[in-house]
Order: sequence, then C-alpha cells, then structure tokens
Amino acid sequence: MILDNLKQIKIRIQASIDKYQRSDNSVELLAVSKTKSVDEITQAILAGQYSFGENYVQEGINKITHFHNTPYHAALTWHFIGPLQSNKSKHIAMHFDWIHTVDSIKLVQRLANQRPDSMAPLNVLIQVNLSEEETKSGVSFDEVNAIVDEIMRYDKLQFRGLMAIPAPLGQNPTLEQQDNHYQTMLRLSDKLVQLKQDYPTMPIDTLSMGMSDDLDIAIKAGSTLVRVGTAIFGTRNYP
Ligand SMILES: *Cc1c(COP(=O)(O)O)cnc(C)c1O
Repeated sequence: MILDNLKQIKIRIQASIDKYQRSDNSVELLAVSKTKSVDEITQAILAGQYSFGENYVQEGINKITHFHNTPYHAALTWHFIGPLQSNKSKHIAMHFDWIHTVDSIKLVQRLANQRPDSMAPLNVLIQVNLSEEETKSGVSFDEVNAIVDEIMRYDKLQFRGLMAIPAPLGQNPTLEQQDNHYQTMLRLSDKLVQLKQDYPTMPIDTLSMGMSDDLDIAIKAGSTLVRVGTAIFGTRNYP
C-alpha cells in the first residue's frame, strides 16, 4: 500500500511539473513519517523513498538511531520539521541532516555550537509565518535577513531556503480560495528569489511548502520540496 501511495504521489507531482513547465526533478518528495513505525518507513525505503520528515524530537532520534544499524543508513536523509523548544536543539544538531523550523537568532547560535565537527553542516530553512496570526510559528518576512546573516557566520550551518505552513486549503476549495492560497505561497517564492540576489554566494535552493491537499498549487508557486504524510502512510492517531 505504501508502495502504491508513493507511486500515486509521484504521478501527481510529475503532472504538476508538466502542467506548470517546471523542470524535471525540480520538486523533491519529503515523506513525513511522524507517528509511523520503522517497519512502515522501511517499506517506503524499499519503494525508493530516502528522505523523511519527523516532528517530534525523541521519536525522530529513535528512528534515526534504528536505521544507523541498517544497510540503508548512508542513503537516508532526515529532516526535522516540527516546532522546536530551544532547550532541545542539541538533539537536532547531533542527529538530523536538515531543520525546517528555524525562527530565531538564538536557535541559530545554539545549533551552530552544538553541531558536531564530525558531521556535515546542518542544512537550515527559516520558517516564515504566512498566515499573519500571532499564535502561528515562524518569522515575518522582515525578520528573515537578520537570521540569514547569523547563519552565514557558521561553517557548521548551511542556509538552504525557506519553509512555510500556510493555513489549510480545506476540502473542495473555491477558485477564489485556491487563488488566495496561491498568492500567499507566491510571496514566499518571491522572497526566496530576493534572498538569492541578496546572498549570491550561498546555495539557496529550497522552498519547503505544499502538503497532501495543496501539492499542485505549491508546485505552481515554485515549491522545491513537498512534505507529504497521510497520502503516503495513511491517517495518524495524533497530529
Ligand atoms: C504533519 C506535517 C506534514 C504532513 O501532513 P499530511 O497532512 O499528513 O500530509 C507536513 N508538514 C508538516 C510541518 C507537518 O507537521
């Protein structure tokens, strides 16, 4: 079933790539495996999926540690995509390959100091709050450059781009709702273009946006990394 689901998602991604004339292989699939077992993840690996997103620190580490002792280890890439309390940053620095949810200078400093010398630089995305709700996580567009400036100071961090979790599009959205959603995502895409100009020496190449229900619009708006959980692994008992 996981094999079939992955095939279906890849067909959807390719259809959007063709429809919006994005270049082939410009959109990567991140399999969001939070709450799912190592057996389910192994099924996805055997189907050719090698990058996984986790939201909960301890659960993620348990899985990463498990796969350390398997032949797949070297092929796998682990992305931390959940909200992070800064007192837990060391666990991310020590185990993950990517973090999508950087939202403060303090967190940048902690991750840089905690990343072991023996590991490759941690790939960093800054989470932007697109919904303009005070309670949502992420920073405003105005705050992004100051955080990038801080990331640039450290060899052990590699700034790669931006991430966002727009308000859900919902079931059967109207055309107007879809267009609003698209315009919201486009603002993130425009900001990435601007960052590439502001920091021409940095390998800024990643726009992490789009989930099961808004994949197509996200790819239209320039997403390079779509995060899909339920459509691959089935429903979860907790978020
Ligand atoms: C859970 C989660 C996803 C995947 O959501 P699905 O609806 O299961 O596809 C994507 N991104 C983030 C940040 C998540 O927390």
